[in-house]
Amino acid sequence: MSDAALASKIPHVDYLVLDDGDPYLVAEECTSCGARFFGRRNACAACFATEFTTVPIAREGTVTAFTIVAFAAPGVPVPFVASVVDCDGTSVKGNIINVDPDPANIQTGMKVRLATYSLGTDDNGVEAIGYGFEP
Ligand SMILES: [Zn+2]
Repeated sequence: MSDAALASKIPHVDYLVLDDGDPYLVAEECTSCGARFFGRRNACAACFATEFTTVPIAREGTVTAFTIVAFAAPGVPVPFVASVVDCDGTSVKGNIINVDPDPANIQTGMKVRLATYSLGTDDNGVEAIGYGFEP
């Protein structure tokens, strides 16, 4: 039963960590040049080295770029806010959530923090968890 309880929530991407504490992202960091990537890599896109270590990413950050997306694939609710957030030096792509997607509410330089939300639950009661950033 404990396995089922543990599996009741799964991250939508493998670089989102859902522990008992606050959720956080992890990056693959090249041991040769320090470049960071999200998701497993076979080689570093910056220096072609093949050794990586996993590093936790700061949960707070600053919006460096954003766009309000008004058109998307069928089934994807619009508008939403796609953004790039600088998390203590690491650039992270993610949507800004829990805010009205209006240009009056979002600025570059604004402080945001990691937040998670439910993407839905399957027939076995397993809930998929996505991430975004909230003001
Ligand atoms: Zn590298």
